[in-house]
Amino acid sequence: MEHLDSVKRRALLKGMAAAAAVSVMGCAGSGTSAARPRVVVVGGGWGGLGAVRALAASGKVDITMIEPNDGFMSCPLSILYIAGFRPAGDFQRSYGVIDALGVRRVKDRVLDIDRAGRMVKTSTQSIPYDFLVLATGLEYMEETLPGYAAAREQFPVGFRAFEQMAVQRQVAAFLEQGGHYLITVPKPPYRCPPAPYERACLIAQRMKEKGTKGKIIVVDANKGPMPPPLAKPMLTVMREMYGAQIEYINEADPKSIDAGRKVLATSKGDIPFHHANIILPMRAPGLIRQAGLGERFAAIELPTFQSSKDKNLFVVGDAQGTPLPKSGHIAFGAGQQVGEQILATLAGKYKEAGLGDEVTLPAAICWGKVSTSLAIMINVTASVSVGDPPKVKYQVDPAANAASSKGAMDWGTNMWNAMLGA
Ligand SMILES: Cc1cc2nc3c(=O)[nH]c(=O)nc-3n(C[C@H](O)[C@H](O)[C@H](O)COP(=O)(O)OP(=O)(O)OC[C@H]3O[C@@H](n4cnc5c(N)ncnc54)[C@H](O)[C@@H]3O)c2cc1C
Repeated sequence: MEHLDSVKRRALLKGMAAAAAVSVMGCAGSGTSAARPRVVVVGGGWGGLGAVRALAASGKVDITMIEPNDGFMSCPLSILYIAGFRPAGDFQRSYGVIDALGVRRVKDRVLDIDRAGRMVKTSTQSIPYDFLVLATGLEYMEETLPGYAAAREQFPVGFRAFEQMAVQRQVAAFLEQGGHYLITVPKPPYRCPPAPYERACLIAQRMKEKGTKGKIIVVDANKGPMPPPLAKPMLTVMREMYGAQIEYINEADPKSIDAGRKVLATSKGDIPFHHANIILPMRAPGLIRQAGLGERFAAIELPTFQSSKDKNLFVVGDAQGTPLPKSGHIAFGAGQQVGEQILATLAGKYKEAGLGDEVTLPAAICWGKVSTSLAIMINVTASVSVGDPPKVKYQVDPAANAASSKGAMDWGTNMWNAMLGA
């Protein structure tokens, strides 16, 4: 039964690629569209920039990137800004290079996807496409925590670009005033599983330096730090380096929040706090779900990242719903891969993976910075046999170390250059 399913899925994929190529050629030859095929990329974050850079290098397609922000801000490593070790500007880049590459940049938000008419719509315009790459990242599932939505300003999550500023102000207030700083950790899948613990550790380092009175309480819905191979080295760090600053509570599922009384109700009882960084469960933005592309996340086929519902559409980055970790490294690599696939399809050179072929998927590197000089590296490799679930392998440093801390900063610099360097 399983074999039959995967054979059917492979046949479907082959059909999709052929249909995509034919429909674009038909469109380009109809005299009603631009001379060059039009690729629209929604989102100028990690995944979107991977696609834009790969496509722009060819000069063979018209590219439109739609993104509401004026520039880019990295979530990876921005804890160094949030905890007060570096300025925000170290993690921001301009879109100047994208403009210089001849990409049409639309500073707006896509509100609707007309799949039948192959258009995306913003509040002011409809933009046609031959291929659509969705790299919209995530939204927070506010309704999972009663009491949250009415008080969201008070509890910034800070897991999307530019939200770091609100969290930084909150952390600065905690470091001055002391008290209880709560950090909640949802059950996966969520963006960058090590990030909540990294946040706790770097704020704890700052508490030590500033002599802040109080503690950080990590309220984890999971049995241990995520992903599971990280649990041992991360628990060791929290106990040995920050035993006086961090209290770790596992298997505590948040039930509701009372912003007035400042109490988080959990499956392990009520936890009072002074400041709280509530990291909510996450899903693909409404845009993707309303377009019928998936339930919680977009349904896609691997290794192509092609929507299971629409042959002209690809979803890369955290909005896609495979077991691949939600990592910027993977998002960027998947965006690049999709850009190259589109170009190869247009050139008639795209080669489908064959029956039983094991295809390597974009890899991930995530960093758990635990101090300004120490980090734990999480290396993820993945592969897939067409039509089957991907195989994902984790390799994690056994202990926090200085080499991984330097590696994290070098990695960040290289990635930001690949996205937005000349
Ligand atoms: C604290 C933290 C630490 C992290 N550390 C690491 C790490 O060490 N290594 C690593 O690999 N990853 C790390 N990540 C994860 C990484 O940031 C994400 O996986 C990555 O950003 C996903 O890329 P994306 O393109 O899917 O989404 P994003 O980078 O969030 O980009 C989405 C873009 O789409 C735009 N957008 C959304 N909706 C619309 C719309 N309707 N119309 C137009 N534009 C829209 C948004 O404005 C945004 O710019 C970390 C994340 C966090 C929060």
